[in-house]
Amino acid sequence: MDLNAAAIKNIIFPMLKYAKNNNTLEYLTNLNKTQFLPTDEIINIQKEKLRKLLLHCVENIPAYQSYKENIHLIEKEPMEALSYFPILTKQQVNESQDFFIFPDIDKSSLIANRSGGSTGQPVRFFIDRPTSENSEAARWRALSWWDISIGDKCLMVWGNPLELNNHQKLIYNMKERFLKNIIFVSAYSLNPKSIHNYARTINTAKPKYFYGYASALHLLAQLVIKNNIQIKHRPKVIVSTAETLYDFQREMIEKAFGCRVINEYGARDAGIIAYECGNGKMHISAENMIVEIVDIETKKPLKPGESGLVIITDLNNYSMPRLRYQLGDIATLSDSICGCGINLPLIENVEGREDDIFVSADGNYVHAVYFCNLARSYPSIKQFQIIQKTRHDLLLKIIKNDPFIESEIMSYIKEIYKVMGRINIDIEYVDAIKPAASGKIRYSKREFPLTV
Ligand SMILES: [Zn+2]
Repeated sequence: MDLNAAAIKNIIFPMLKYAKNNNTLEYLTNLNKTQFLPTDEIINIQKEKLRKLLLHCVENIPAYQSYKENIHLIEKEPMEALSYFPILTKQQVNESQDFFIFPDIDKSSLIANRSGGSTGQPVRFFIDRPTSENSEAARWRALSWWDISIGDKCLMVWGNPLELNNHQKLIYNMKERFLKNIIFVSAYSLNPKSIHNYARTINTAKPKYFYGYASALHLLAQLVIKNNIQIKHRPKVIVSTAETLYDFQREMIEKAFGCRVINEYGARDAGIIAYECGNGKMHISAENMIVEIVDIETKKPLKPGESGLVIITDLNNYSMPRLRYQLGDIATLSDSICGCGINLPLIENVEGREDDIFVSADGNYVHAVYFCNLARSYPSIKQFQIIQKTRHDLLLKIIKNDPFIESEIMSYIKEIYKVMGRINIDIEYVDAIKPAASGKIRYSKREFPLTV
């Protein structure tokens, strides 16, 4: 038995409730019940929470006071009333932050947050304790589907924990180790030499689950396989987060560690949005938020099965509400019901980030994820990055594998032409593709705005 895990679950977390008024456990108890309610009852919970939130917004939040005229609709049909509020972009949040903050709130009680700027536009915003704790509770609820509970030992594969100096780093490591029971692995320190130490750590410390960026977990798995390292310890599950999880990554990670890889769909600026269940379906944290999908161009709501922009309304943040917040991802909702017993609504597919969407010569939208998965069928490509620079120019960076067969690259290009049409493709053979400051590797990226 992991004594550290037991202490965290049974002593430290309950103590936090009294010492810091932390309600995560209470929220978790509730979420554990509501997930089994019939889906329409879950939707009713959303509606009630939304009604309260929208009334609070039009009464108290400067950015939304001009929507007070909709108050009757809010009271009667909050879901419909929500559609009358504008979609909120990251830029708007950055430009008029104070406009969204509840004037009566003690700003010092809020948690300043900032989404990563490495893969898109950084956004600065505040969340409050209930928002952060509800999100944390949603993560633990979903991990419980995989037999993971609060405090269980975790191997976390991440970029550098910010730019910490040594002393801070020590404190950070202690906190991670003892309070949260986390063994931290920096993606930057993974290499053919260090992998032997990490393998030893995994085999002796026996973390119950791994958690990390898709690309960092993939790198760990690659090193294990290439160096013929035997991992004797089998984690219950490996949780991939913060990036698109490509099929080739999932396969390699599962092969290296002999357990299921699952997807956590979360964002710093939206919390835990959805989580994969045993049936491989992504269940939305519906008690915490409303997820809408809208058309990329018209921004009109789309039906389940139609792919578009993800719009999030967090139902818990009364301190800085962001209604209909455009997250920057592309996904599809589903109206089917999962047979796993969890009745939370489903996201059919998280297709990637908004800037993973390329535009073909005919003006069609193309998911670059397709090119990324395709690249893996050509062994001559060791690593790659595909960037759409303009509507007419694509840059393909390739690290050659040994052996290298040029005709494979030509076949790959041909496949790209088939989808993208008459577009200019430049190939650059490089020695390295650097990850962003966060440690994330971007396989694809569009560098111009979709709409003019
Ligand atoms: Zn399910």
